[in-house]
Amino acid sequence: MHNAAFDAAGIDARYELAELEEADVPPMVAAARGPGFLGLGVTAPYKQLVASLVDEIEGDAETIGAVNNVVRTDEGRLIGINTDAPGFRAGAELTLGRSLAGLDVVVVGAGGAAHAVVFACLTAGAHRVTVGDRTPTSAATLVERFDGIGTGQRTAAGLDDRAVRAALETADLAVNATTVGMVDPGMTIDVGVLPASATVFDLVYVPAETALVRAARDRGLRAANGSEMLIAQAAIAFERWTGIGGMESVMRDAVAPLLADPAAVA
Ligand code: NAP
Repeated sequence: MHNAAFDAAGIDARYELAELEEADVPPMVAAARGPGFLGLGVTAPYKQLVASLVDEIEGDAETIGAVNNVVRTDEGRLIGINTDAPGFRAGAELTLGRSLAGLDVVVVGAGGAAHAVVFACLTAGAHRVTVGDRTPTSAATLVERFDGIGTGQRTAAGLDDRAVRAALETADLAVNATTVGMVDPGMTIDVGVLPASATVFDLVYVPAETALVRAARDRGLRAANGSEMLIAQAAIAFERWTGIGGMESVMRDAVAPLLADPAAVA
């Protein structure tokens, strides 16, 4: 995706995978202060470690508690940013065909991605956000973190709690922000209780059609996997590194064959 965008923009740069042991992360981040770097992408399990190594963390990333990209300034300072929140918003709004403002949303999960999703919903003006997680205390901690962000009502509960089921019964949007569907089989949302007008958004993008997306479509609901969020967050990072926006379609074309063939991604 990124290399297709560099080629399209005529920029002589490469996005390269560095598989690092933990001890190799600080030297890698230090090297990224050099003039040859535009920035870094960061993935699990080093999002917190890299956050502790950058020179500054942007406000939204600080609030969310997760850095998934790093921008190098012309002076060689490293700024930690979060592109998952605006990436989710772009992907979800594309799927919904409307803004998140005013919607009742159920988010399942309380990890890094769920933090970005809930932050995006609250800052976009969602009417109500219900967070359900297998570990109820994690859902509660997530919701407390966003005290004072947005005006939407918010509820935290265990995944199997009555409150989650009740919220699903009237939800406009139901989001899977867990690894279920990718790591573990099955699904976290009972699509049978959603209203016919609901949309299902699964952050998982490998496999391309998760059990959740298939079940939602079988019920006639609008449903999407996480590929548009993946593309949107990458395009936002690319713009932050290069100043060049509008790379979504180049990136979509580049990533489509890889997402269609999970073996190629692995
Ligand atoms: P994470 O921080 O490790 O969080 C994992 C979450 O999944 C936790 O809430 C965990 O619950 C829950 N979980 C794991 N196994 C479960 C199970 N068997 N049943 C119920 N809940 C389970 O991971 P993350 O970084 O937030 O990523 C979550 C997913 O989002 C991943 O699949 C990732 O690929 C995807 N993602 C997609 C995009 C995109 O651009 N589309 C961007 C970021 C992430 P506990 O709290 O109980 O452990």
